[in-house]
Amino acid sequence: CKASSEDHNSSTEKDDLPVHGLSDIVVGVLGGGQLGRMLCQAASQMAIRIAVLDPHENCSASAFSYDHMVGRFDESATVQEFAKRCGVLTVEIEHVDAITLEKLEQQGVDCQPKASTIRIIQDKYLQKVHFSRNAIPVSDFMQINDLESAEKAGDLFGYPLMVKSKRLAYDGRGNAVAHSKEELSSAVGTLGGYNQGLYIEKWAPFVKELAVIVARGRDNSISCYPVVETIHQENICHIVKAPADVPWIIRSRATDIAKEAINSLEGVGVFAVELFLTRDGQILLNEVAPRPHNSGHHTIESCFTSQFEQHLRAIVGLPLGDPSMKVPAAIMYNLLGEENGEPGFYLANQLIGRALRIPRTSVHWYDKTEMRKQRKMGHITIVGPSLGILERWLNSMLSEESLEGQ
Ligand code: ATP
Ligand code: MG
Ligand code: MG
Repeated sequence: CKASSEDHNSSTEKDDLPVHGLSDIVVGVLGGGQLGRMLCQAASQMAIRIAVLDPHENCSASAFSYDHMVGRFDESATVQEFAKRCGVLTVEIEHVDAITLEKLEQQGVDCQPKASTIRIIQDKYLQKVHFSRNAIPVSDFMQINDLESAEKAGDLFGYPLMVKSKRLAYDGRGNAVAHSKEELSSAVGTLGGYNQGLYIEKWAPFVKELAVIVARGRDNSISCYPVVETIHQENICHIVKAPADVPWIIRSRATDIAKEAINSLEGVGVFAVELFLTRDGQILLNEVAPRPHNSGHHTIESCFTSQFEQHLRAIVGLPLGDPSMKVPAAIMYNLLGEENGEPGFYLANQLIGRALRIPRTSVHWYDKTEMRKQRKMGHITIVGPSLGILERWLNSMLSEESLEGQ
């Protein structure tokens, strides 16, 4: 039941809506990508109504949303107009107009997580300052404004180092490695120059990357999903293994750091904490996402309560569900565009065909209209008795080998 923008812009009408599902609140989601789509899918199970704000008419979430307002989530007037239709506002992307969310909060609009959290997180440099002030371990970092300050960071941190954009970064777009002093200028150049707002991070010599999804409910209860391992290729999440194959003490330390990080931020919902594990067992926080996250997609099939359902429960004020796994292991494989356009669709279809031949595999296709190289187009989750077995199944899927005899 889709409503047009004109149907839903008065609060009286909104209040008059009958309660059909588990909440009478219309949840407004800023952004309509795959995370918005999976939020809508979880919402439909509980008959929770989601309105999506996204500039693309055929965005991923549109087909599953109760209402889709076509407009920009980084545009103040649009966000204010959208807020009138919703009982609570949340995000599926952090690059939204946080200043407007702050204003709306002052007018009594319920934003979850809080605008202050989005404001801190959407600027990676501010985020690093915030976490280091809260005694959360992070790699050393330094703001840079010109070649002189970049070289100073190089002298302090050594090489390689990571140059990062403060804002609008995702899927590694916003990161550039400099292996030497000579490479600093070209790394800065690929990110658009010093005027873009850049900072440098000391290289984190990690042996594994880990992630923890933390949920906070309206009653302030905190609930953590099992620690997972994330494997990135060219800075983009590629594979997630759940649970992470690391010693118990590492899982416990990772969960503690993730919890502490989220305790320093305001608001309810799920948050993802990306971490580096170093050879000597040290854990450093990489970044936090104030929303469901790629490292939690496996939870749809592998946990009692998925990260998407958990986020909705938290923001509409239902009790949090059980985040623990109901299967021994899960692997999530991202379907990244291999080529632009039709050839990319063809290759993805071939892989999906092979995936569907493996029992206990679930295919998620985000139905994006445009196929681009390295774009997240869908994902595949395999659940089973152990990570070792799942790795074999995944490899056979990727290598086109027959599964017979496995
Ligand atoms: P996301 O899609 O997770 O939002 P992003 O564009 O915000 O990605 P980051 O999370 O900062 O980018 O970095 C992407 C990846 O780059 C990390 O997962 C890690 O593999 C690598 N990376 C980032 N920072 C460092 C660092 N300081 N040292 C070494 N590797 C790093
Ligand atoms: Mg990021
Ligand atoms: Mg990241």
